[in-house]
Amino acid sequence: MATSLLSYAEAAEQVHRFIIALAAGGVVPLPDSADGQGSSDAATLPSLPPAGEPVLPEPVLPEMVPLSAAAGRVLASGIRADRDQPPFPRSTRDGFACRAAEANSHQFLFLAGQIRAGQQPSAPVGKGEIWEIMTGAPVPDGADCVVMLEHVEHSTGFVRQQAPRTVAPGENIVPRGAEARAGDLLVPPGIRIASAQIAMAAQCGYGELAVYPRPRVGILSTGDELVSVEQVPGSSQIRNSNTPMLAALVAASGGSPLVVAPVPDHPEALDATFAEMLDPRQKLDLLLITGGISVGKFDLVEDALTRAGARFFFGGVAIQPGKPVVFGQLARPGRLPLPFFALPGNPISSAVTFQLFAAPLLTALADDSGQQPRFALARLAGGWQGKPGLTRFLPAWCDFLFEPTVRLIPWQGSGDIAAFATSNCFLVVPQEASSLSDGSFVQILLRP
Ligand code: AMP
Ligand code: MG
Repeated sequence: MATSLLSYAEAAEQVHRFIIALAAGGVVPLPDSADGQGSSDAATLPSLPPAGEPVLPEPVLPEMVPLSAAAGRVLASGIRADRDQPPFPRSTRDGFACRAAEANSHQFLFLAGQIRAGQQPSAPVGKGEIWEIMTGAPVPDGADCVVMLEHVEHSTGFVRQQAPRTVAPGENIVPRGAEARAGDLLVPPGIRIASAQIAMAAQCGYGELAVYPRPRVGILSTGDELVSVEQVPGSSQIRNSNTPMLAALVAASGGSPLVVAPVPDHPEALDATFAEMLDPRQKLDLLLITGGISVGKFDLVEDALTRAGARFFFGGVAIQPGKPVVFGQLARPGRLPLPFFALPGNPISSAVTFQLFAAPLLTALADDSGQQPRFALARLAGGWQGKPGLTRFLPAWCDFLFEPTVRLIPWQGSGDIAAFATSNCFLVVPQEASSLSDGSFVQILLRP
């Protein structure tokens, strides 16, 4: 497999190529810089099964969920307007419906009626008439504007617009069908459902929505030192924090986490677990492995992946933290190959590499047209100095009120969960930078 480091941009592009090839059933060229191999050394995706072995169809059957459970899911069939929106010319103000030309004459107009929200006007507005109207009520025929309540004067049974105010025809009215016509596609499939789409669906009468199934993501932590959350660790043991952290990240990115018990640093145990993960009955869409991929004597994951027949797209990216991250796919009987990421075991390394590389693929597997990872600009408070050569993602706190301002959180390296837990983003240091100055604009990586 490739031993040379890719830059962050090259590795991100490689994930992107994989996503495109997966959608098209095409060819994924390896990055030009991977081990000096050109793009002629192409990995074909999806790889064909041995002759005679049928690939099981992997139908993506949408499921119906009630609107109350739809937030965070990905829409599988679009939301259409069941009628014109608004279904009637809607007053956007509490005020008085009349003819603009008459209102602008500043003559008193006869107060001929009232329309409340939910009420159908009993008659059109006649010449010389003005009708009291509430926000959200249908504007009667004959009226072409609504004069705001605050802009009129009353005289028993009569109302006029205050001089010298004027009102334009159409003012404070949303015409019927101005927002949408009956049958219009208002939210296309592939949109992650959030509050705005729920409001849209409710307005169009959808009690439930068709959503794509969540991709199934296996999460496998490795390490002899790991004990579960419930256990009391021995003096040289640590609790497994990566598995619950990654499960939370997977769920936040639209996946369904399938947690596997941590595997010790033994070749046989790793082989047996990979064989289990590759069983087609597991129906995994993505596999995340943490730990055991750096250069230590008991970092056995890469060899186990090789024994399992892995094809590697990259192994090592010039980033900090997360340099040893590996991306590849594993062939499996009867199904398309299983893409995997082997993430470095240090918790912040795992989190950063998940966000940078696994989240975009997971988003695509979820049929979510949204984009991951998400970056933003903020002003740097303090500064940063260091060696160039790695794109760095450093735990930071961004104050989003008024002008986003980001400040680094002191940390003891990529195992410092305390620093991670008090951060809300990562400050991005470009690969070539040796300093970032106080007050400059910098990029931050937002959490999913
Ligand atoms: P490794 O990538 O296996 O060399 O592990 C790097 C560091 O991350 C070591 O200090 C490990 O103890 C720690 N680590 C590995 N896996 C986990 C995990 N699942 N939860 C918390 N820390 C871990
Ligand atoms: Mg380890």
